[in-house]
Amino acid sequence: MTRAVNLFKVKILSAYHLKEIGERCKRVMNRIFTNILAGVFGIIAQHSLSFEIDGSKWIGAETDFYVDISGISGTGVLWNMAFAQAADEWNATTVFNFNLIQSSLDPCSNDGLNGVVFSNNICGQDFGISDVAVTVQRFERQLLGPPALVEADIFVKETLNFDIYDGANIPRGSYSDRIDFKRTILHELGHVIGLNHEMINPAIMQPKYGDIYKLRRDDILGVNTLYGGLANCSVQSLRLGVTEGKLALPDCSVKELTLGGEDESLIDIYKFSVAESTNFSFSVASNDVESVIIIADSELNYLAQDSNTTGGCEADLQLSLGAGDYFLIYNTFDRQVKESCGLEGAYQLSANYSGSSSQDLGSSVSLGRSRSTATFTGNITANNGVTFGNKFTPQESLDIGATIVVDENHRGRDGFLIVAAVIGQEILLLNDQGLFVNSSSTSGQLISHLEKNLDSLEVIRIGNNIVPAELGIQETSVDFFVGYGLSSEPNEVYFHDTPLNLIISPKIN
Ligand SMILES: [Zn+2]
Repeated sequence: MTRAVNLFKVKILSAYHLKEIGERCKRVMNRIFTNILAGVFGIIAQHSLSFEIDGSKWIGAETDFYVDISGISGTGVLWNMAFAQAADEWNATTVFNFNLIQSSLDPCSNDGLNGVVFSNNICGQDFGISDVAVTVQRFERQLLGPPALVEADIFVKETLNFDIYDGANIPRGSYSDRIDFKRTILHELGHVIGLNHEMINPAIMQPKYGDIYKLRRDDILGVNTLYGGLANCSVQSLRLGVTEGKLALPDCSVKELTLGGEDESLIDIYKFSVAESTNFSFSVASNDVESVIIIADSELNYLAQDSNTTGGCEADLQLSLGAGDYFLIYNTFDRQVKESCGLEGAYQLSANYSGSSSQDLGSSVSLGRSRSTATFTGNITANNGVTFGNKFTPQESLDIGATIVVDENHRGRDGFLIVAAVIGQEILLLNDQGLFVNSSSTSGQLISHLEKNLDSLEVIRIGNNIVPAELGIQETSVDFFVGYGLSSEPNEVYFHDTPLNLIISPKIN
């Protein structure tokens, strides 16, 4: 994240011109209409894909647009219909989606709603002499990357002679002064989405009104690039317990994720899902990296963060999350904050939870790579199932269990159940006496916990009323795995890719 944060809103007027008179671009900061001539384009280097984006975009790649323009064009098409066709063209060819709502509103009101009007001015400001239409955008500062778009209104210059037609611009004759409303809207909706003017390639986003009346490859790639930042980064699944990580190239940067701004600080991204309201405790220990933790939803709304730079390099965050998909973003700053903590290096991420959900143990895997549809969940409780979690104190009395929904093709067949506990480099297997034995003492032989005819649902009790302190355990981290196999294939075991994690620690957080 960036070290200095300015909280301001920006407003840009992007005009579509009848003649090529250069870019007119006004920025309005702090909602005071102070015009700063910001963008006079000079010579732009030639490159094949040259759509212009600065990274500002709508969170979630969609927005509602309020449109209700009464009347009909000279060629007999309703203005509303042409607007809808233009919006549909963006919807059909890009990842962005406009939801049109047939209702008119005041585009000059700072209400967070997008509207369109025929008008002879832009909220009191005059149109430029060659302007066809202007889009006014409002932005909101984001924790990472450039500000997000939060409102965009389109003003169409009512003094011009608009009509609706496809094809080349009408050069002469009695219709020569007619301007196509649909391509005008198509262009302005490009600004609404977040595209700037394209100066080189054929595109509806060229600043000059002309013969292009449909979206071109450059327009479509521009939108899909602007909204495709997550694909630039590798995303790992978050595991409960401790994950060893390293912030270093070729990790993704904030700039690669958000496709704008100048923040080149590195990020690691972890995804996780929450089935029902759950309390999480995340912490990061590092000797190297000034750590920042950010929690975002699946649309990259930034929900919570710890960017505190006092103390050591560490970060921690406790929060409650409802059902949904989330990202944990591990980040640092774009420049060094203090001498003792840098911007790259190793870190240890701890993720712990407490809630009414069991632990989802991820996808089904197998020793021999056979496929199965089996699903696995695990649960550890210190209060008879009122709540579950993965982190407990040594004094708590724990019940540890797992359930397997057995693959349909394996039900009713003779098989066996296996339970393993991984502690550091050691693998312990639960034998039929209910005792864990070290796998190194079994000369590589699998030990089954139980041999039985497989039911559709197998409920495994790994341990009941276990008090770690009574076993002399004050602090440990255990990853449990459960699995099953068929007697006909004794070397094939179906299990899960995400361990059932248990942390014992005297520390509460
Ligand atoms: Zn424009």
